[in-house]
Amino acid sequence: MHLKKPEWIRVKMQGGTVSNKVNSLVSDLSLNTVCNEANCPNRMECYNRGTATFMILGRNCTRNCTFCNVTRKTPDEVDLKEPENVAKAVEKLGLKHAVITSVTRDDLEDQGAGQFAKVVREIRKNTPKVSVELLIPDMQGNEELIDIILDSEPDILNHNVETVPELYNKVRPMAIFHRSIKVLDYSKKSKPNIKTKSGIMLGLGETKEQVIDVLKRLREVDCDMLTLGQYLQPSREHIPVVEYINPEQFYEYKEIALSMGFKRVASAPLVRSSYYAEDFQV
Ligand code: SF4
Ligand code: SF4
Repeated sequence: MHLKKPEWIRVKMQGGTVSNKVNSLVSDLSLNTVCNEANCPNRMECYNRGTATFMILGRNCTRNCTFCNVTRKTPDEVDLKEPENVAKAVEKLGLKHAVITSVTRDDLEDQGAGQFAKVVREIRKNTPKVSVELLIPDMQGNEELIDIILDSEPDILNHNVETVPELYNKVRPMAIFHRSIKVLDYSKKSKPNIKTKSGIMLGLGETKEQVIDVLKRLREVDCDMLTLGQYLQPSREHIPVVEYINPEQFYEYKEIALSMGFKRVASAPLVRSSYYAEDFQV
């Protein structure tokens, strides 16, 4: 069954010169943004504010999450110029806060950890005041690889648990809920100065109790920040939306999360992991 989108989810598309500037800079430097690859509904708004989330390590993922719009073909060659080019784009766009994510690279020996670290170091060279948020894959829970990333000292280590554990087989068949929690736990314990952040998409059939249990698990590992947004089906090939969660319910989750001790919470239908991330620091 195809659910009709409610009023609150329809997005106002706006174009403009700033969005063109972001697009042409990104393409000139052979970079990818998750904004485009994931078909994010906030693209025009974020581009017009001069914000973008860079997606490193190519456009093809080795995982098969059923909600995700990223392609799953043979992984790309690692672009050795990419760290420098991301840093150039951050500087040219005058960003105050840079968000860097990647596809999952189970095929690489270091799973891309080294590339994340290089990007942070390149950004620090010319724009040391820019805060850097890394939205990382689970690195298969390998602590040595997580250390490589943490040693580059990003300001925020973000790893999304994406959904409730009861739906992992359906939604993230190659991921493990507890492993994702351990990534956040390990990061907080080894580098308490680096803020941790996570997020879930709602509307995939999860119950309110299951959502609250996930929030509790995140607080047990002292996760600092949380994003909650509505899942939107990118195409008919992707897992369908089970329910459109209304804005009041999102507001209630926000209040619950804040009362549990999260320091920052963004919870609304169109919130994405990096939506207004620059305003989201503790
Ligand atoms: Fe890009 Fe994040 Fe904005 Fe979406 S919310 S357009 S992914 S910066
Ligand atoms: Fe998409 Fe990330 Fe899943 Fe890859 S691991 S399919 S990029 S959500």
